[in-house]
Amino acid sequence: MPLTIGLTGGIGSGKSTASQWFEQQRIAVVDADIVAREVVQQGQPALQEIEQAFGAWVLEKDGTLNRKALRNHIFQNKEARQVLENITHPKIRESIIHQLQMIQSPYGILVSPLLFEAQQDQLTQRTLLIDCSEATQISRASQRDQQSIEQIKMIIATQMPRTEKQKRATDIVLNDTSQELLFSQLRALHLKYLALSEVTE
Ligand code: ADP
Repeated sequence: MPLTIGLTGGIGSGKSTASQWFEQQRIAVVDADIVAREVVQQGQPALQEIEQAFGAWVLEKDGTLNRKALRNHIFQNKEARQVLENITHPKIRESIIHQLQMIQSPYGILVSPLLFEAQQDQLTQRTLLIDCSEATQISRASQRDQQSIEQIKMIIATQMPRTEKQKRATDIVLNDTSQELLFSQLRALHLKYLALSEVTE
């Protein structure tokens, strides 16, 4: 497996913007959010297990997962969230490992909002936190999504605190100002990761 960098950050911090920049440098990016959607698609064993655990209401009429209903159900219910994660997380992990093994670029990026929470950082050699103030997160996420400021604040409250992520991350990039400044910081890290990938080869 090539050198793998785990990329994370809270909602609206700039994870997707950063991972798109790495893709433009021809660095392979594995997106844990996409994998999480794939494992609950129709025909996948996880979907059947979720139905057995929660009941038929978790399915739409066409048999696909009613993501909104499930999300609402687990949002304030820790036990239910745990049940769901016990089903999905091992499958997500397995698929991530498989995709990381296929990477052809000098190093790879694993982008995940739950990199630390789901211990996916264990699959990486270094971690990169895209970091910004809560005010910036709220303003960017509310402009991007059809969500109220209250909803975004609630999501931030359920995520691991910024200070905790800062403690765990190997590298931190501040993204409170322009995209140009974000990209110039990423460029410096990209050169560092390329050099590191040659050492670890
Ligand atoms: P995340 O994936 O962490 O939720 P995104 O990368 O989607 O965050 O960024 C949230 C929103 O903020 C997007 O609309 C994105 O285009 C915008 N954005 C990200 N970084 C910057 C920046 N430095 N300046 C201005 N807008 C930004």
